[in-house]
Amino acid sequence: MKKEIEIVLITFLVFVLVFIFSVYYVSEENKEAISESAVKYETYIHSKDVWEPAANTHKITRTKKYLEQGVSYVPILMFHNVFPVPQNASELTKSFTIDPKLFESMMDYLHKNGFTPITLKELNEIWKGNLPYPKKPIVLTFDDGDKGVYEYAYPILKKYNFHFVIFLITKYTGMHTNFYMSKDEVKEMLDSGLCEVGTHTRDHVNLKRSPILTKIYEIKACTNDVKRLLNYTPTSFCYPFGGFDRDSKEILKAYGYTMAATEIPGLANLKDDPLLLPRIKIDGRENLQAFINKVNLKP
Ligand SMILES: [Zn+2]
Repeated sequence: MKKEIEIVLITFLVFVLVFIFSVYYVSEENKEAISESAVKYETYIHSKDVWEPAANTHKITRTKKYLEQGVSYVPILMFHNVFPVPQNASELTKSFTIDPKLFESMMDYLHKNGFTPITLKELNEIWKGNLPYPKKPIVLTFDDGDKGVYEYAYPILKKYNFHFVIFLITKYTGMHTNFYMSKDEVKEMLDSGLCEVGTHTRDHVNLKRSPILTKIYEIKACTNDVKRLLNYTPTSFCYPFGGFDRDSKEILKAYGYTMAATEIPGLANLKDDPLLLPRIKIDGRENLQAFINKVNLKP
């Protein structure tokens, strides 16, 4: 009888130990992230319901006041792919894809009209007063890391010596697919000094709709991927599907990000929250004149 109790007790003890070990093991991946940002959360997590996104300040109605204060506005353009789009492609593909010939004429327009394409890193330095204000600054951003950007847009951007930003979905980078840029292609653009590499989560998830641990994992994982693959520390981010909330913004801050792009339409200015920057979408179905109108938008 005594022996039986002993067996039961030992079995129970072994079970408890295995359980504790497995819980520890599973949580290990996120542990570092949680402790790193835990302090930051404390300051806001309890007042969640009173949070107002700073994005409200993007509203163009407020811009008159800023103009009077001498604040300049910068268009941050949102591109996806640059590729000869087939006639029978879906409307969605057409909208996200710029024909290389049209892209060339867009860049030619910017060149002939004295625009200065800069990266978000440079824009941040300009806003901080560490870099001089260039003539007609504009930011060209490319979401998702589509291969067409390397194959079709990069040679044109290189020709004009234009700076630009790519936002990588890092689970695809280095997978050698026909759709996304390879690690070597990204590295080549980064080494040219023209390209800033930003992140766009590892799995392209809508952070606003994700649980807190997913938000932490997605931001931590894509940041580490870029560090590991390219030996480069990203400081600019782009919210997939434009989905942001205060948690994701605070996590970005905790991981050292200084600039983040949304899909809120409008011009950016230094009064904006730099982690909630508005952008102007460039639609592949529109013509050159529509592009010209967009880059010359006045607040
Ligand atoms: Zn995207």
